Amino acid sequence: MSAKRDYYEVLGVTKTSSLDEIKNQYRKLALKFHPDRNQSADAGEHFKEISEAYAILSDSEKKQTYDQHGHAGVDGKYSSDDIFQGRGGGGFNDIFESIFGRGGGGFTQQQQRGSDLLYQTTVTLEDVLHGKKMEINLQKQIKCDNCKGSGCKPGTNKKTCTTCNGQGEVRQTRNMGFASFVTAAPCPTCRGQGSMIETPCSNCKGQGRVKGNKKVDFEIPPGIDSGDYIVSNEGNEIPDGINGDLVIRVKVQPHRYFNRDGKDIFYDQDISMIDAALGCEINVPTLQGSEKIKVNSGSQPNTIIKLKGKGVSHINSRGTGDQYVRMVVNVPKKLSKHQKNLLGEFQKLSD
Ligand SMILES: [Zn+2]
Ligand SMILES: [Zn+2]
Repeated sequence: MSAKRDYYEVLGVTKTSSLDEIKNQYRKLALKFHPDRNQSADAGEHFKEISEAYAILSDSEKKQTYDQHGHAGVDGKYSSDDIFQGRGGGGFNDIFESIFGRGGGGFTQQQQRGSDLLYQTTVTLEDVLHGKKMEINLQKQIKCDNCKGSGCKPGTNKKTCTTCNGQGEVRQTRNMGFASFVTAAPCPTCRGQGSMIETPCSNCKGQGRVKGNKKVDFEIPPGIDSGDYIVSNEGNEIPDGINGDLVIRVKVQPHRYFNRDGKDIFYDQDISMIDAALGCEINVPTLQGSEKIKVNSGSQPNTIIKLKGKGVSHINSRGTGDQYVRMVVNVPKKLSKHQKNLLGEFQKLSD
């Protein structure tokens, strides 16, 4: 008993620490040493030690007694029950509620959710322009038709679990010396369901769901980008739970002529050196069909001609984009003798 440690030292605080600091420090240590979380042999002792220190230092009257007379003063004045019946600002209950959840246990029954399904597809740039309707044939878990998902043979019902009396959880009370903690865990017999199937459905073997096919209509909107699109509730189904989602992973294929950036389309048009110099009219492909454009005489390489409204829409912005046509001027690699002579003449005239 003589080796009883200083309360301030136990909590790692000082005489001038605020109640909030003391509370925070206790919360930290309690999380570390609570026997439900810490398996080491002396965790329980340690937990009691910090709890006692907290009980004294969080109560202004008891703290004052301790500051003036030390352990002897506290021990002489308060019984163990008095110590833990704190009237101070930091009651144990709200601390344990915030650490371990309501009622000391941490178990709440959650609604189950079916898993998500992934469906991958590719679309063309033409699909981006017009949108695309598709019918997706999915193989997935669906609710058993025979038992409507109950898992029971039609005409029979589930019976209440006798282990937990339908509660779905089993509670354990453990005595910590100054307080008792109630912990709750899912019932092992019924796995938290509170009920059990007496006669399983023959179609799904009591699972309530079977593997099956389902068709889902999906419309790819115009202006789509590569990415994931979610169709809620079309994933795997789960009896008495929430269906998973269907994730449609769309990849927009590269186009053999066009590049796309958002709403705009980019296209490289080859023209001859002569056409660039003299000017010409050419047909340029667009997603909406071919378009006749005029190339001015004296056009320089990389001149860009804009075709208004010949782009696509984009899901994140309004309106339709444009097509940008870049002039790629081709210089002939092979020339006949006659061509060479003519270009020679031309050169003389240009000097
Ligand atoms: Zn069934
Ligand atoms: Zn049970």
